[in-house]
Order: sequence, then structure tokens, then C-alpha cells
Amino acid sequence: MQESDMQRMWSSAHLSGGNAAYVEELYELYLHDPNTVPEEWRTYFQKLPANGSAAATDVSHSTVRDQFVLLAKNQRRAQPVSAGSVSSEHEKKQVEVLRLIHAHRLQGHQVAKLDPLGLAQRPVPTDLSLYSYSLTDSDLDTTFRTGGLAIGKEEATLREILQALQETYCRTIGSEFTHIVDSSQREWFQQRLESVRGRPNYSSEIKGHLLERLTAAEGLEKYLGTKYPGTKRFGLEGGESLIPMLDEIIQRSGSYGTKEVVIGMAHRGRLNVLVNTFGKNPRDLFDEFEGKKVEGLSSGDVKYHQGFSSNVMTQGGEVHLALAFNPSHLEIVSPVVEGSVRARQDRRGDVSGDKVLPVSIHGDAAFAGQGVVMETFQMSQTRGYKTGGTVHIVINNQVGFTTSRQDDARSTEYATDVAKMIQAPILHVNGDDPEAVLFVTQLAIDYRMQFKRDVVIDLVCYRRRGHNEADEPSGTQPLMYQQIAKQRTTREQYADALVQTSALAQDAVQARIDEYRDALDNGLHVVKSLVKEPNKELFVDWRPYLGHAWTARHDTRFDLKTLQELSNKLLAVPEGVVVQRQVSKIIEDRQKMAAGGLPINWGFAETMAYATLLFEGHPVRMTGQDIGRGTFSHRHAVLHNQKDGAAYVPLQNLFEGQPRFDIYDSYLSEEAVVAFEYGYATTTPNALVIWEAQFGDFANGAQVVMDQFISSGEHKWGRLCGLTMLLPHGYEGQGPEHSSARLERYLQLCAEQNIQVCVPTTPAQVYHMLRRQVIRPLRKPLVVLTPKSLLRHKAAVSTLEDLADGSFQTVIGEIDAIEAAKVERLILCSGKVYYDLLDKRRNEGREDIAIVRIEQLYPFPEDDLTEILAPYSNLKHVVWCQEEPMNQGAWYCSQHHMRRVIAAHDSSLFLEYAGRAASASPAVGYASLHAEQQEKLLQDAFTV
Ligand code: AMP
Repeated sequence: MQESDMQRMWSSAHLSGGNAAYVEELYELYLHDPNTVPEEWRTYFQKLPANGSAAATDVSHSTVRDQFVLLAKNQRRAQPVSAGSVSSEHEKKQVEVLRLIHAHRLQGHQVAKLDPLGLAQRPVPTDLSLYSYSLTDSDLDTTFRTGGLAIGKEEATLREILQALQETYCRTIGSEFTHIVDSSQREWFQQRLESVRGRPNYSSEIKGHLLERLTAAEGLEKYLGTKYPGTKRFGLEGGESLIPMLDEIIQRSGSYGTKEVVIGMAHRGRLNVLVNTFGKNPRDLFDEFEGKKVEGLSSGDVKYHQGFSSNVMTQGGEVHLALAFNPSHLEIVSPVVEGSVRARQDRRGDVSGDKVLPVSIHGDAAFAGQGVVMETFQMSQTRGYKTGGTVHIVINNQVGFTTSRQDDARSTEYATDVAKMIQAPILHVNGDDPEAVLFVTQLAIDYRMQFKRDVVIDLVCYRRRGHNEADEPSGTQPLMYQQIAKQRTTREQYADALVQTSALAQDAVQARIDEYRDALDNGLHVVKSLVKEPNKELFVDWRPYLGHAWTARHDTRFDLKTLQELSNKLLAVPEGVVVQRQVSKIIEDRQKMAAGGLPINWGFAETMAYATLLFEGHPVRMTGQDIGRGTFSHRHAVLHNQKDGAAYVPLQNLFEGQPRFDIYDSYLSEEAVVAFEYGYATTTPNALVIWEAQFGDFANGAQVVMDQFISSGEHKWGRLCGLTMLLPHGYEGQGPEHSSARLERYLQLCAEQNIQVCVPTTPAQVYHMLRRQVIRPLRKPLVVLTPKSLLRHKAAVSTLEDLADGSFQTVIGEIDAIEAAKVERLILCSGKVYYDLLDKRRNEGREDIAIVRIEQLYPFPEDDLTEILAPYSNLKHVVWCQEEPMNQGAWYCSQHHMRRVIAAHDSSLFLEYAGRAASASPAVGYASLHAEQQEKLLQDAFTV
């Protein structure tokens, strides 16, 4: 703006330095939302000098004030301003009107009628009243500029403006979007909401469809309630609007070209969603109510945890729907859904996230209470985990089991406030207003598709019955349930409204009810858009992975020449990439290893496992807190150019058209990240999917994922999973933390060949173990205790031939030339302690001791161990040696397997123990004590 323009504006505004407060207010408004101030002021504020930042919003108030005082001085010098001309009253009021508009956008939701029961007690904000803005009723007929209020007029009376604001922001939709920093997103919401005053005019066809969906939602619960009275079903009653909402999400995203929608939800309303959204055959549901067992599952799960898949037709074509299986641990399914969605997007090369949509349905209490919600939001825009925005729906029935006092349930105003951490817009809506529900759903989908960010719909409703159908809620929520007893259902209210406005005839209402009940009576599908012959190309075929025994051997050898060629490609750092000195040394060493000039170490063998799998057509995905480099600097899968910091990933540059190799350092979460990778692995059978813990004990933070999904998902829900978890483990005197990956926790979960637990001790073992995990069609989670000091241990090496010709050995027998007949003591062990035992034996020159490594602790390789024991016919002692305390490690969980093998070998033998004494803490903190203990356990192994 030219100086002369500024002065013109100055005069027109009748301002002087004395009115700096007025300007400050205007500036304050501008900071919140530039569109609320008249254009000439906006242009002026934009031009203000920024304080060390390009953003005008960083200009301090004092700068603004100084600018104006300066301008006022110049102005006075040029043309004295009389007191009377300081301001027209109107100009001042205009600013107040703009503030009023802004206040409604910011706080209108606080007075919106969101609670269908009308019981919610909320403080009334004063900022929405005229009187807070030096405005009175006498101003109502005065015309003001609308300042960006999207009501189709530049000017309107205060009365009209106020009415538009109240209709838009204070009816049955409470919108929160002013916390979003990006002004284009805020303007988008203003435009969409204000242009229809929060309520589009829907056609009678749409209204009829809404009623049909509500009838279905209500009809199913009534039917089940009558047929199976008192049986737990976690009914949706009170939150029936969820069903039309999901219908709109699927149909609208389908018309955007979405091909798959993955939904995660807790138990409430799940049966309703299965039948009325996914088109599950009601007859199958009735069978489940009657307790019929699902073929092929050893344990199965209750019906309200079951997932489902189906295809439905939308305007944009066929859409595949997947409902994730879900344990009772609320919220943990959300990151699983994200992982499953990301896997589908990766498979489709869907970088923007248009083709696969995640939908997460939450309960209000869990959304406010569970930390994994925050962890899941935190992943939403990160490179390794983003999915192009998730639609979150909170079924807000205003009570968590029996807890409904807000001052017990949370400290935030809304259950949804956590979503503000990623500036997600939040749309609260009264569940008893189906058209408002439809509108916010449309906004949510359109926003997600345009901005590729998360959005939250808070469906404020109620729970007509107790936590479940056998539970009596009035004992704990008397007033709420007195009101609920009087409350007419959403469908009844909406049907009445449609009949009253002549949008629908009364008999059409009854016809919908009858039609739905008849369909259930006849066990017919009730989703009209269900595709009876689904297009199978929309999802993965898991049949090749079904029905394999863990004992089947698979060839993991790899041609030596090709292996060397791949290695040469990996180690050829491109021109212009300058690697750091130590990394350069690692590359040089690896070049020697590939040429056979140096023994192969862990880092090289592991990298070659990935390279060879990629060569054979398998994608690889690896995430973890420091996975690119490796916590202990052994991997260096990502090279950082010392010139410009750019990353170069050799495994992504192996050959033209190679499968994906994804590697991401994760943010500092375990729970959500491991759940995500579980979701990814259960959706991508042909890939190697790895999560690596920074230290093994960090996986504790993801214990719920281990218990509820990884160890039991196959047996509860028939969901196979080939996830690999790398957990650094080893007693190296570093104290109670980071010594132990808590092996015992995993072993304790082992049964029915549910997972694999391996402790590889050589580079060739890790190479073949990783290759086996993908080449073998068996898909079982693999828990690996990975080493720390062994990564550089001189004896923990392999040869090129071991990689080319070997295989994964579940048990490794004695490697030194010790005559079996002379052996009287057999030491069994796993992991790093092996090398200490070997050293000791060699140093002491003992020929009566053999050392056997068990490299796979579960499924326990009893046959392989039997075979290895066979030559030892003169044994007097068999000892299990471990570094962990007696109550930890493998001792308690694996001894019965070893005892069985030993007893069969020689019934006079008894398995003895050499290890640390039982201890509350995993390891001692004092280095001297650690060394003493270590020395003793080795000695015990030789003497007990
Ligand atoms: P979805 O795309 O998740 O709906 O899966 C489609 C179908 O693939 C399911 O109905 C299952 O039959 C099968 N399927 C999906 N995931 C798995 C899994 N992890 N293990 C076994 N079968 C699966």
C-alpha cells in the first residue's frame, strides 16, 4: 500500500493515535481471522513489517500501535483532526459487529443444542451476547458490512446478521474449526456452513432414505431385543443416526472414487453396523446368538467383536468394506485400521489416499481417556503412517459404562478435545436431528477428500439401555434414565416431522417398518446396495497362506553369484553422495565381506536378507524408532549425504521395477506403532513387515497389542499375521532397563503354535530366519531377540557359503570337534551367553562339555533337539544356562519342552539350572555386581 493510500484510509476511518485501542481490536480480529476485517484494513495489516518472520500474524501489537501513532502524527501535521471527527459511532459499532461474528464462529458450539436429552449443563458464554459488544437492541435495524459472513450479501442489518449466526452456529450443529491455523481450511468451513446456515434443504427422496436407514437401525435392535431378551448385544439404541451416517460416508466417498473403506469400532452398535451397513446375513447373526461355533477357529470370539468384509455399490462404482476385528480394549483398533489402510494404499500405489478411506468409530469415554488416541492422531501426518486423513466418529452417549459426571470422566470441555492437537476440525451434532447428522457427514467427507487430514464427528446421543442389555442403568444415572424413558426415538421424531411437513405419508412410515421386519423374519439381506457377486480384485487372496504346518521345510538358499551382484549394487554409493567417515568404513568392510575377504557380520547378512527378498519379488517394510541406522549403529540402511543431509536408501535402488522397500524411523510410540504394523501385516501377506524396538523392553508399551492381537488374532478371528518384531536383548551390565526384552512375556503367551520366538546367534541365522519368514507360506508373528554386543562380536560371524547354501537351524549343536562319547555335561542355552560359555570352555580346555544353542524357543523344536542329543550317550548332567534371573527368560516357560526331550533320551537325567537368582528387577545396576553374577552363572553351568 502506498503512503497516500494509507493516509486516505486513515482519514476515512476518522482515527487518530488516541484510537489505537480501536485499531488493536481490529488487529486482534484480523489475527484470528483475516476475513473478518474490511478489505482495506486487511491489506494494511498484511503489509505491516513482520518481527523476524514473514507472517503478518507474527507482528506484535506494539508494532501495530507504533505504526498508527506514527501515522497519526503525520496525519495531524498534515491536517489537524478535530475531536468530533475521531470516529463515527457507526465505524466503532462496525468493528463490534465483526467481533460478534467472530465470536459465533469461535464459540457458537457452546450454546448449540447438542444434547438430545436436553440435560447437559453447560456454562453460557457471555461473548455471544450483543451487550458484550457495546451493541444494543436499538442497533438491530442498523445496516452493517457482513465482513466475510457467507450469507450472500455485503451488507445486512444487525438483526439479519445475528439470525444468520445463530442459525449457522447455535442450532443442532456445533462446529469447532477456528483452532485451525491454515486460513483456507477455516474459510472452507465458514463458506460451507454459513452459505446454508447450517442446514441444507434436502429433497424428499433424501429425507425418505434417511428415514429408511433409521428404521433399519431401530428395527434390528427391536427385533433382537424381542427374539433374544436379556442377551448381551451392546445395542445402538439412542445412537441410531450412526447408520445413516455410515451409509453417507460410504456412498459419498465412493462417488469420490474410493475403492475401499476400512472401519474400526468398539462393541456398541457393532451388530447393527454388521447387518445394516455391511450386509451380514441376519440369519448368520441369529446363529451366533444361538451359540453356534465358527468352523476353523479354536477359540473364536463373542459376536460383538467380529469383523466382516463385503462389497457395496455406490455412484462411483463398487466399494470394498472391511470391518476390523476388535478386542474389548477400546481404542486399540484405531491404529490397526490405519495400518490396514496404509497397506491397501501402498498396494494400490495410492499416494494421496483417495482410494482407501479409514473410518474410526469411538466411544466418548474412551476417546477422552485412552492415550492411544493421542498416539494415533500423532501418526496422522507422518511419512511412515499417514493415510490421507481419517474420519473419526465419536458415538457420544454421554456415559462411560456407569461414569457420566464430566468432572470424573475428563478435564477437557469435550470428549473430543484431544483431536485439536492436530488441528482436526470437530463437528458436534445432535443425534436426534438426522438431517444435521447427514450434513456434518457430508462436510467431513468433503473436508477429508480436499485437505487429506483427519476430521472428527461427535455424534451426541444417549444409551437407551445399560452398558449392556443385562445391566440396569437407573441405579447410577437416575435423572438421565428418567428422561430416556420419556424420550421418543430418533426415528419416531423424524417420521413425525416428515409427516407434519408432508414430506412423507403416514402409511409410508409404517410400510418401511413392516418391510424391514419381514426381511429379518425371512433371514434376507437388508443392505440394498450389497453386491452379491463381489469383485475379488478389490482385496487380497489369502488362500495360499492357509493350512501350513510350522514344521514344513522351505528352501531359503540363494545363488551366491547373484547375492554378490546384489551386494555390489547396494554398496556402490552414487556420485555426489558423500557418506560419513564411520559409515564409509562399514561400506568398505561390507565390500570385503561380499568378496569373501572378511567374515560376514550381522549388519551385512541382515541387509542381504532384505536385498534377496526384494530380488525374489517380496516388498519389505521396516519401521521403528531408529531403524534406519539401527539403535546400535549396525544397519545403516539409510545413508545421509554429508553435503546436503539428503537420504539415500540403497535397498530402494537395487533394480528397475523392484518391489517397495519402505523404511521409516518411527515417532516415539510403541502402542500405536506396533498396532499399526500389525494392521499392515494382516493386510499384506506377501511382504516382510518388521517393527524394531529401540531397546527390547520398550515393547512393554505395546503389551496390549501383543496380548490382544499378535498372540491371539488367528485363534480368535482367523486373521493370519506375519509381523516380525526385532527386540534388542542382552545382559551387558547396562542396568535394569534395556538389558531384557522380557522374553518370558512372549513365551508365556505361546500356545497352539500361535507365534514364533527366535534368538538367532549368527549372521547366517538372522539371514535365513528373515528369508524363511516370507518364503515359507506360513504367516505367524515372529518375535526375535536381537543382539547388541554380538553385532560386533569376533566369533559371531558367518561365511558367504552359509548365506548361499545354509538354512535356519532351530537348534545348533556343538561346533568344536568334541568327541560325543566323552561328553558328560551338556549345556543348553540361547543367545549371547553361548559365546561366553564357549570362551570359558575353550579357555579351560574342557572336552567333557558340549554346548547346544536353541535358536527357536517356540514352537519348541523337540525333534531337532532329540536328533542333536542322540550321539551323547554318556551324559551325567544337562544344564539350562541363561543370563536372565530365574523368574525371567526361558526357564519357566520352556523347561517342560527340554525335560521331555531329555527324559526320552535318558530317563535318569534331570534338567538343572544355571542362571541368575530370581529377581524383582530384570538386571542389577552396578557393573561390578553384574560381572560377579555373570561369572557365577557361567561357573554354575560348568559345575551344578
Ligand atoms: P479384507 O480386505 O480385510 O476385508 O479381507 C478380505 C478377505 O480376505 C477376508 O474376508 C478374509 O477372508 C481374507 N483375509 C483378510 N485378511 C486376512 C488375514 N490376515 N488372514 C486370513 N485371511 C484374511
